[in-house]
Amino acid sequence: MLAKRFEKLSPYVPGEQPKDRVYVKLNANENPYPPHKSVAKAIAKAVKSNIEKIGLYPDPDSKTLRNEIALMLNKTGGVLGNKNAKLPFELTGKNIFCGNGSDEVLSFVFYTFFDSDRPIVMPEHTYSFYPVYCGFYGIPMNRIPLKENWELDSDKMLSEAEKTDSSIIFANPNAPTGIALKAQEVAQMIRKAPKDKVFVVDEAYCDFAEESCIPLLAEFKNLIIVRTFSKSLSFAGQRLGYVVASPELIQAIFTVKNCFNHFPVDFITQQAGIASCKAYDYYAENAAKIIQERESLTEFLRSRSWFVIDSKTNFIFAKKDGISGEEIYRKVKSAGILIRHFSTPGIEDFVRISIGTEKQNKALKSVLETL
Ligand SMILES: *Cc1c(COP(=O)(O)O)cnc(C)c1O
Repeated sequence: MLAKRFEKLSPYVPGEQPKDRVYVKLNANENPYPPHKSVAKAIAKAVKSNIEKIGLYPDPDSKTLRNEIALMLNKTGGVLGNKNAKLPFELTGKNIFCGNGSDEVLSFVFYTFFDSDRPIVMPEHTYSFYPVYCGFYGIPMNRIPLKENWELDSDKMLSEAEKTDSSIIFANPNAPTGIALKAQEVAQMIRKAPKDKVFVVDEAYCDFAEESCIPLLAEFKNLIIVRTFSKSLSFAGQRLGYVVASPELIQAIFTVKNCFNHFPVDFITQQAGIASCKAYDYYAENAAKIIQERESLTEFLRSRSWFVIDSKTNFIFAKKDGISGEEIYRKVKSAGILIRHFSTPGIEDFVRISIGTEKQNKALKSVLETL
């Protein structure tokens, strides 16, 4: 009964959400702080005062929400965790495409811009949904190993992309390493990359870093930036992601969206998303707290002879000589705290720990102390 293409699928495995007991969840890079009160109000209003709207189709193009996202990016410079971030131009709603989580947005980007006639170039270790979509859409991949110091091998990625006239995609900061390239380093890459192919930067964690690549849109018409409300905007359960790019590329993604699902962002999510954008000051404070906790945890582990990669995200990627990643994960879990372990060859010694509240981190530190 199954289609032939079904046999090629290998689904993404998300961080576990167990129900057997209440865990401190530091395994899915969710935000430990709740959404702003105005978001709860917007949702309550959407279902109470506007109940008739639930019976009607929502705005298929999320127009008001896209304008609010552009406004938030203009006001924050595209980085909640850096008060000095600035954009050299004003974005408008025409630069934004919204979807049901950035996973869906990425799926539309893959469908819109990547062909089966050439591989897309990506790091060997990056967001593990990219290989899943390549399998889903039948797009070949060329996965470039990271350098010894866990950074992207940008020279090798560029020379491979040039050979096949290919697109490049990676997360910046990258996952699961947490390392960020500076915007100027990304600019150098785009200058040397194929001009007739899109260059995709996934900025899921950018609000915990120092710089966004959004300012580079002034120079590069082939740049696509993918972002999410899930991490810095405490919105993982509501599902909202977006693309920032030139209006021409945004229009192309709309065409694909309208061939697949006319209404990817429902009415309640649009209302709650608008309220979230307006509360950017609150989320910026939370990002600052998370950054502070990240630095504190990094220092704590390093002083106990752990190897911790410099992170610009809301998680750290760390390992310790003499104890396997799997064992760290199991011991921490038995103490009631979930962290993430990947059995992927090359990174199997590491654990990925999402940064929680100060209280959660204290609990975590006291467990790690016993290892
Ligand atoms: C979490 C994450 C996403 C997915 O975000 P959603 O909007 O929740 O689908 C995309 N890319 C990277 C690198 C991520 O870490």
